[in-house]
Amino acid sequence: MQTDLVAALDIGGTKIAGALVDGHGRILARAQRPTPAQEDGESVMRAVEEVLGELAASPLWTRACALGIGSAGPVDASAGTVSPVNVPGWRDFPLVERVRAVTGDLPVELIGDGVAITAAEHWQGAARGHDNALCMVVSTGVGGGLVLDGRLHPGPTGNAGHIGHISVDLDGDPCPCGARGCVERIASGPNIARRALDGGWRPGPDGDASAAAVAAAARAGDPVAVASFERAARALAAGIAATATLVEIDIAVVGGGVGKAGDVLFAPLRRALAEYATLSFVRGLTVVPARMGTDAGLVGAAAAALARRADPTAAGV
Ligand SMILES: [Zn+2]
Repeated sequence: MQTDLVAALDIGGTKIAGALVDGHGRILARAQRPTPAQEDGESVMRAVEEVLGELAASPLWTRACALGIGSAGPVDASAGTVSPVNVPGWRDFPLVERVRAVTGDLPVELIGDGVAITAAEHWQGAARGHDNALCMVVSTGVGGGLVLDGRLHPGPTGNAGHIGHISVDLDGDPCPCGARGCVERIASGPNIARRALDGGWRPGPDGDASAAAVAAAARAGDPVAVASFERAARALAAGIAATATLVEIDIAVVGGGVGKAGDVLFAPLRRALAEYATLSFVRGLTVVPARMGTDAGLVGAAAAALARRADPTAAGV
């Protein structure tokens, strides 16, 4: 029997996606359910089981050699548990054990969603060919992951590279994580929008007060909108520069909804990076938009499972 495919799950606050993925990152079968995020933990698990059941009904399922799971965090890969902030019914939920009850002895690899995106960008996207990279998702929250020495570096619990909760403003606003002045508290979409509104920016007739609307206003020259993106860019730049100085990455990839803002974000981000990343060994650092689309989480979970299979000492459960 040929076992050339991997199964992948991407578990987020709005949807649970599953796929069978080949060795080139192509998706050959897929299944999806909405996440019943406000229901109890068993209801959420039932949605996962339905996705797995639909995949297992595919004639391709017998070719799967492993299962990769990318989940909203925090995750604890060493314990096989997840506690996604936006899924309150799951706290220290034994996801790996529960999935194994369905999939049998298929090896399971659990990583955080930021790490999954990183695996996808390194395998197929903007970080391809880079041995030392930081990949970030800037949207409702700010997450990330690291590639070091050519390999994904999830860390013992699967959360390494979580740049959103590095403090870049010592006396800054309290962050929901308990710290102050975190990158996420300044650079996430909701915080970009909040700061623009605080500064007097007002949405247009459609009432859209999202970061995407602030980005459109910034492109049209609205100074408050421009300033809100510049502040977010400085927070991201400080976090990226700190990461580069610690572990010598040569590329930072920025994705997520805010990452789609284009020059409104990337122009001030590159300027600020030149200010913060000053030592000789980080001066060559580049920052680029992500290339992977909405399937990044699935492709990344598959990549992590494949890497684990190729090198069992690489990481994970
Ligand atoms: Zn924080």
